[in-house]
Amino acid sequence: MVAVTKTLPVERIVEALDLGITDIGENKVQELTDKMAILGDRPRYHMIGHLQSNKVKYIVDNVHLIHSLDRISLANEIDKRGKASNRILDTLIQVNISQEDSKFGMMEDEVIPFIEKVLKMENINIKGLMTIAPFTEDESVLRNTFSGLYDLSERVKAQKYKELSMDILSMGMTNDFEIAIEEGSNMIRVGTGIFGKRNY
Ligand SMILES: *Cc1c(COP(=O)(O)O)cnc(C)c1O
Repeated sequence: MVAVTKTLPVERIVEALDLGITDIGENKVQELTDKMAILGDRPRYHMIGHLQSNKVKYIVDNVHLIHSLDRISLANEIDKRGKASNRILDTLIQVNISQEDSKFGMMEDEVIPFIEKVLKMENINIKGLMTIAPFTEDESVLRNTFSGLYDLSERVKAQKYKELSMDILSMGMTNDFEIAIEEGSNMIRVGTGIFGKRNY
């Protein structure tokens, strides 16, 4: 479980770490780096929000997993910065399964050609897929979204690429994580369910 700590002060995060949380997620680079500066290497840091290429350099040394890889220009930048920092960066491909409102994430049929390009890069690793379900109470829409990501990961696995694991399916948030887990999620990103409503 990734505890989503966006907008929360570090005191709240420390409290959660004391209670056994090990992984935290943020969706803005500035906030992530501010918290890294204070919390050091205590939690593992997940970048779960849209990532601008020109900001990769700020997180390259400390980020544990980037969930929002969604274009080749970003993959190139992560690879380049990884090389400069002598790190191999772990990433998930963000996929827009529902093809609704969400502005980010690549289309399903772009994923395999994308993986084949990224496999040629030395300092970036793809560990799995991530999706954000549409904001709806409609269980069938949620189920279809999550099973769609699961099926896609199985199609990728069937390609039997060497050096590609596809171990992680990051899907499910406060309102839908039970359904996501039933449909094959093994990494959920929960904020409100742990910390209560955010004050923006
Ligand atoms: C905010 C956020 C979450 C957590 O949302 P909650 O509804 O508070 O659990 C999960 N994933 C992403 C990408 C987010 O931006």
